[in-house]
Amino acid sequence: MSEDTALGLYIHWPYCARICPYCDFNVYRPKGAEDVLRAAILDDMAHWRERTGARALTSLHFGGGTPSLMTPEAIGEVIEAADQLWGFTADAERGLEANPNDRAGFKAFAGAGINRLSVGVQSFQGGVLERLGRDHGADTARSAVDMALHSVPEVSLDLIYAWDGQTLEMWRQELDTALATGVGHLSPYQLTIEQGTAFGKRAERGEKLALEADDAAAFYELADEIASRAGFERYEISNHARSPAAQSRHNRLYWEGADWIGVGPGAHGRLGRHSTGGRIGTEAARRPGEYVQQVKSGRWGVAELEALSAEDERAERILMGIRLAEGLDLTRLQRATGLGIDEGEAERMIAAGLLQRQGDRIQLTREGQLLGDAVSMALVP
Ligand code: SF4
Repeated sequence: MSEDTALGLYIHWPYCARICPYCDFNVYRPKGAEDVLRAAILDDMAHWRERTGARALTSLHFGGGTPSLMTPEAIGEVIEAADQLWGFTADAERGLEANPNDRAGFKAFAGAGINRLSVGVQSFQGGVLERLGRDHGADTARSAVDMALHSVPEVSLDLIYAWDGQTLEMWRQELDTALATGVGHLSPYQLTIEQGTAFGKRAERGEKLALEADDAAAFYELADEIASRAGFERYEISNHARSPAAQSRHNRLYWEGADWIGVGPGAHGRLGRHSTGGRIGTEAARRPGEYVQQVKSGRWGVAELEALSAEDERAERILMGIRLAEGLDLTRLQRATGLGIDEGEAERMIAAGLLQRQGDRIQLTREGQLLGDAVSMALVP
């Protein structure tokens, strides 16, 4: 399925049993209104169907928050509704982000139609999980991965690195443990301290919680080295897969500038192309109560709809597309937006060893990956 015809559906389930101290996502403690939200999500999907027309879904992704707090029946209901509204392509990915604590439900999620689980393990060390403020322990992490592998064809693990005090040897052990489980996908995330989070407040009081970016670079490189030795390919800055089939098809939509529908509190969506009548960006009402009210009043859940200019679309395509190992496809960029990159900056960065060209594509080198956004921002004229 090409990027021009692919269509994903993202469902944001905003509730978490406990709010992690480093998290700045749109999350809330459950207040007993989950059934109301589920009903609103189903109604909102029907509103979206009117916008998108008849196109089969290439992926459906339950994110959050903690969507594994939803019951398997609720997951099944959403999948069933998506199937009736749009239908799925034969090889559609149906993924769910799962907290290890919810492992007892994994088999039932698979029975409801989920074929990919992203398990938020973060670490296999009890002390580290405690330090990160996670509400699961090391044994739970291991048994959740085991349960996931016995439930669905594709399993991904999230790991957090670069917390203060972590050594490269500790990180090596963590990666070895993760890879030995037999999962096909790994997403190592660097711990960053965000304003407004519990860690953010502690950092403001002078506590050091995360490593500096310069020190974290060696951790990034070690993940690359260990994962590639285990037969994984780093196909995106923070994602490694054992095979092309193990890659996250849904996340590729974001990196490739394809279309996706965003349903649920605070969910973002993107539809259309500048070159074919314009691309829109949507953001649903952020607070669950507001979102429900909005949908109940007969409107869709979107609170903000923006017609993206060709320049906006170009900027998004550059920032997201360059994250892929295969790089940014300049012909596609031109076709979608009628615009190109800043060629002068690109040449300067190629000379500096941060970028390389391969045919129609421009890619980050290893050095460029470590600088990440700074390089991609410079490509936006
Ligand atoms: S479980 Fe995930 S989404 Fe929920 S608070 Fe923790 S990090 Fe954030």
